[in-house]
Amino acid sequence: MANRVPLMAGNWKMNLNHVEAAGVVQKLAWSLKDAKHDASQSEAAVMVPFTDLRTVQTLVEGDKLPLTYGAQDVSLHASGAYTGEISADMLAKLSCAYVVVGHSERRDYHGETDEIINEKAKVVLAGGMIPIVCVGEKLDIRKAGEQVPFVLAQVDKVLADLSAEQVASLVIAYEPVWAIGTGEVATPDDAQEVCGAIRARVAELLGAEASDAVRIQYGGSVKSGNVVELMAKPDVDGALVGGASLDPEEFAKIVLFYQR
Ligand code: PEP
Repeated sequence: MANRVPLMAGNWKMNLNHVEAAGVVQKLAWSLKDAKHDASQSEAAVMVPFTDLRTVQTLVEGDKLPLTYGAQDVSLHASGAYTGEISADMLAKLSCAYVVVGHSERRDYHGETDEIINEKAKVVLAGGMIPIVCVGEKLDIRKAGEQVPFVLAQVDKVLADLSAEQVASLVIAYEPVWAIGTGEVATPDDAQEVCGAIRARVAELLGAEASDAVRIQYGGSVKSGNVVELMAKPDVDGALVGGASLDPEEFAKIVLFYQR
């Protein structure tokens, strides 16, 4: 089995300006240092608003902080008359490691489809960064017991035309929409059911090497109090964390799950 380093990625959404970002990143780094964090056990990352990226880059690179960082979205276009958009090249220039694509909020509020998300994943990969590709069902699908086929259909579309090597390098975030920002966390068994099914589908589509290597996160109301049980599941390789990532001490405890 591949040695997958769990990825604990904070998704700040539209929170924390660049001044606040500096404080949160420094506090997070201090908490990790104090606890003698071992980055080979768990990777700490923050997905920040575009306007925070340069500040976070300066701190991470200047102070050699044990953190990676990235953006929450990317334009499909390389450059040109696309007012308000940010290209993959611009993000790569800021040394982003990751870009979240297809978060349920982008799907809901900006009409992003699986096809658009697939194109965005390709743009991120072409830019030399790692997409964190989000999938997940809404409550009606969960209530109907259709979560596995629904999410696998999303996986087929968001990974379309990607090579085994590309899929091995990326991150899939399983985020049941009913658990995002609601305090309603999926049980560890719920998370494992879908994350395991995603890995099996990757094996079917692209082979064992890709399925062993791809990191599959769970996201949805992850906190320091529930992360250990979730991470005990064999196909859960980390978490995409919204609300709890805004508090650096709480997020540090999530990153440090392996010490408990
Ligand atoms: C998210 O924003 O992806 C998320 C999972 O949010 P929360 O942890 O607040 O549910």
